[in-house]
Amino acid sequence: MLLQILCHITAALFGLLLIACWWRSRRALHQVAHERDQARLLAAETARQASADAALRNEFVATVTHELRTPLNGIIGMTSLLRSGDLDPRQREYADIIRASAKTLAVLVNDLLDFARIESRHIALEHIPFSLPDIIHDLHVLFAPRATAKGLDLALDIDPHTPAQVNGDPHRVRQILNNLLDNAIKFTEQGEIRIACGPASDGPDRRPIMRLVISDTGPGIAAEMQDRIFDPFCQNDASITRRHGGTGLGLAICRRLSVLMGGSLELSSSDDTGSTFTCLLPLEVSQTTHPDDAQRHDRVTTQMINGRRAHLLLVEDNPVNRRTIQLMLEHLGYQVDCADNGSQALTLLTGQHYHGVIMDCIMPEMDGFATARAIRTGHAGDFDPHLPIIALSAHTLTADRDRALEAGMNAYLTKPVQASELAKVLDGLLAAHYRCDMINSDTENHARERSKEPS
Ligand code: ADP
Repeated sequence: MLLQILCHITAALFGLLLIACWWRSRRALHQVAHERDQARLLAAETARQASADAALRNEFVATVTHELRTPLNGIIGMTSLLRSGDLDPRQREYADIIRASAKTLAVLVNDLLDFARIESRHIALEHIPFSLPDIIHDLHVLFAPRATAKGLDLALDIDPHTPAQVNGDPHRVRQILNNLLDNAIKFTEQGEIRIACGPASDGPDRRPIMRLVISDTGPGIAAEMQDRIFDPFCQNDASITRRHGGTGLGLAICRRLSVLMGGSLELSSSDDTGSTFTCLLPLEVSQTTHPDDAQRHDRVTTQMINGRRAHLLLVEDNPVNRRTIQLMLEHLGYQVDCADNGSQALTLLTGQHYHGVIMDCIMPEMDGFATARAIRTGHAGDFDPHLPIIALSAHTLTADRDRALEAGMNAYLTKPVQASELAKVLDGLLAAHYRCDMINSDTENHARERSKEPS
C-alpha cells in the first residue's frame, strides 16, 4: 500500500517536473519569438528610417542643386554677354575662365540633380511617340565635329527594321545616348565610335525590345571595374579621368534611367577592343505619328525649291557651331555654304543666289544685325534683298529677339537649336517666301509648286 502511494507520489512529481520543463521551454520559446519579433520590428524601423533619411537627403540635394542652377545660369549668360563686348585680351581670358568654370559646375549640378531625382523617385517618365533614328541622326550631327576634331570616325548603323516611331521617353533616351557618346569620344584617342540601333528579340511580355549600342576603340575598362563603373562617383583610371574631368555620375544615371524604363545597360570591354555599352529598352511600336516626325520622315536627302536644290548661306563665326549647324542643315537636305562673318556673307550673297540665310547675331567684324540691315537695303547684290533670314543666337532675351526682327530678320531661334525646330522654321519661311511647298527629291516628280521662284 505504502509502496503504491510512493509510486503515485513519484509519478505525480515526475508529471509536475515534466509540466515545469514544458512550461519553461515554452516560455523560452516565447522569449525567443518575442526577441525575434522585436529584432524584426527594429530592422524594419531602421530600414524605414534609413529610407526616410535617404529620401530626405536626396530631396535636400535636389532642392539645393535646383536653387544653384538659377545663379549659375546667370553667371554663364552674363559672361557670354561680357565676352561679346569689347574686352582686352587679359579681360577676355578672365571671362573665358569664369565661363568654362561655371559650365563645369553646371554639368556637376545637373548630374547631381538628376541623380537625386532618380534616387528619390522624383522623376516622371514620358510616354509619347518619337523616332529613334531621328534622335540618333541628331546626336550624330551634334557629335560629329568633336569626333572629327579628334580624328575619329563616327559611324552610324541603323537597322532598317527599326520602327519609325516608338512610344517612350525621348528625352531620357537621348540623355542616355548623349552621355555614352560623350564618354566614347572623350576617352578614345584613335579609331572609331559606332552608334547602332535596331530591334532585339521581344521581351517576356512580348513587348518589343530595342537595342542601342555605343562602341568605341578606346582604352577599354578593366574586368574588375566593369560592374563598379555604374556606381555613383566611380571613375576608372584617375589620371585619364583627371585629364578629361567629369563627375563619375553619368553612367550611374544612365543605368538607373534604363532600369526605370524597364530595360538594362551593360558594358562589355577589353583592352584590345575598347568598350561597348548596350542599352536594351522595351519600347512598343507607336501607331500614332508625331507631326514633327512625320514632317521629317517625308524628307529624303534633298530639299528642292521649284526644281532647284535649296541653297542656304550659314553665317557663324564659331567653327564648332558652324560645323554642327552645317551638318544639321545638310542632313535636313539643304546645300549649305558657310561664311565666318557678316562682310564675308555679303560678298558671297553678291555673287550667288541663295534661298535663305541662317545668321549668328554676335560676330567679329560685322555682326548679324548689321549684315541683315545691309541685305535688306540692297548691299548684298541684286539677287533677292528680301530672302528669308533666320537669326540663330545664344541670347534668349525678348530684347535680343526684337533687335533681330527690327534689323530685318524673319525669325529668331536660340542655341542650342534642335534639327526639328530648325526644319520647321525653315520650311515655313521658305514655303511662304517662294510660294511653294518644300519638296524633296523623291517627291520632285509630283510637283507641288504653285508659282515661280522670284528671280
Ligand atoms: P564621368 O565621365 O563624368 O567621369 P561616367 O559615370 O560617365 O562619369 O563614367 C565613369 C568612368 O567610367 C569614367 O570616369 C571613365 O573612367 C569610365 N568610362 C566611361 N566610359 C568609358 C569609355 N567609353 N571608355 C573608357 N572608359 C570609360
